[in-house]
Amino acid sequence: MTQPAELLSIETGEDYPEIREGVRRVCADFPGEYWRNLEAREAYPTEFVKALTASGYLGALIPEEFGGSGMPLRAAAVILEEIHASGCNAGACHAQMYTMGTVLRHGSLEQKQKYLPGIASGELRLQAFGVTEPTSGTDTTKLKTRAVRDGDSYVINGQKVWTSRALHSDLMLLLARTTPLDQVKKKSDGLSVFLLDIRDGLGKGLDIRPLKAMVNHHATEVFFENLRIPADNLIGEEGKGFKYILDGMNAERILVSAEAIGDARWFTKTSVAYVNERKVFDRPIGQNQSVQFPIARAHAETDAADLILRRAAARFAAGLPCGDDANMGKLLASEATWHAAEACMQCHGGFGFAKEYDVERKWRETRLFQIAPISTNLVLSYIGEHMLGMPRSF
Ligand SMILES: Cc1cc2nc3c(=O)[nH]c(=O)nc-3n(C[C@H](O)[C@H](O)[C@H](O)COP(=O)(O)OP(=O)(O)OC[C@H]3O[C@@H](n4cnc5c(N)ncnc54)[C@H](O)[C@@H]3O)c2cc1C
Repeated sequence: MTQPAELLSIETGEDYPEIREGVRRVCADFPGEYWRNLEAREAYPTEFVKALTASGYLGALIPEEFGGSGMPLRAAAVILEEIHASGCNAGACHAQMYTMGTVLRHGSLEQKQKYLPGIASGELRLQAFGVTEPTSGTDTTKLKTRAVRDGDSYVINGQKVWTSRALHSDLMLLLARTTPLDQVKKKSDGLSVFLLDIRDGLGKGLDIRPLKAMVNHHATEVFFENLRIPADNLIGEEGKGFKYILDGMNAERILVSAEAIGDARWFTKTSVAYVNERKVFDRPIGQNQSVQFPIARAHAETDAADLILRRAAARFAAGLPCGDDANMGKLLASEATWHAAEACMQCHGGFGFAKEYDVERKWRETRLFQIAPISTNLVLSYIGEHMLGMPRSF
């Protein structure tokens, strides 16, 4: 539903209090020890994902007619924020929320009926999103994975990298080129989106290999060699995939930034508790302004980022363009959480390095937001070019 911009209103306090309380209750069963233990084994948080699914939170964006709770994007952002503010990590399962926009807005009724109820109940996992490739990187329109129509099928060849959770997912939303770059008018034309069934493909042209990383994010490399998939797996129209993915990327930026806000809240709460408690030179270290100020500054930055993200979510819900706010919110949230993380690490002194405090784990995890799903430079170039009208640099 489209509303005039002046009717947009955003809640500035703790919105969705019942959701926040409910998510905190679920997360209370998954303390730091659970996450440390998983990371040591590079294991997937199956029990955590099951608990979130059972409580209905992962189906927040799926319409009620398909078994979900049909909530707005802001509600999903609150869920992810609270997961991170509780010291947990939604990275294991957030993709089904942010890929949802592409399926909901551009998938056919048959596709929605076929997949959404299973995703809402947890029987089907849509956790993999294959865009990034090793050679083209952020220059998405140069991606080389090809999907060629052959009768009732598409035949896929190519490679993806950093595809998170592909070994823990049944379905993958895949971006591939259907018309060669030299045959399209605009370089963003000729790309298509597929909802690929990983279970059908494994061993028949689809190979997925784990990629060891700094955080326990279940990253993989994905190889396609003459993988044949039904043409029905195409989402929307052939060649329009880049536009569909861009739509979804604004939702992704808003949702992932909510995780960054949640992390920032966790760091600040943890810092304040520690600096008020820890006594050195016979006084709490928080009494030193050099210790206190970085924590205070990060808190102010977090609140500012949060407000822009709330505006982004409100614009998204109202059907208004939200790319400016989604990008600015992503930039500010990723930096606010990093400043909160640095303050937290620093105020813990040597104990910041002790795994049992969880500070070093969260510090590593929150660093990701400046790089994925989009790096800071690329957001700045969006603001410079699209919002301020300066020349495109690439
Ligand atoms: C843990 C993890 C999980 C991920 N999960 C997924 C996933 O599930 N699915 C998926 O598709 N991808 C995923 N990614 C990939 C992620 O989205 C990319 O790593 C990210 O978008 C950056 O792309 P790149 O690594 O190719 O960097 P590059 O494009 O090679 O860029 C490298 C650096 O150069 C800078 N740079 C490049 N070009 C310019 C320019 N013109 N001007 C200024 N600076 C420039 C960038 O800002 C960046 O800092 C994941 C990555 C990580 C680390």
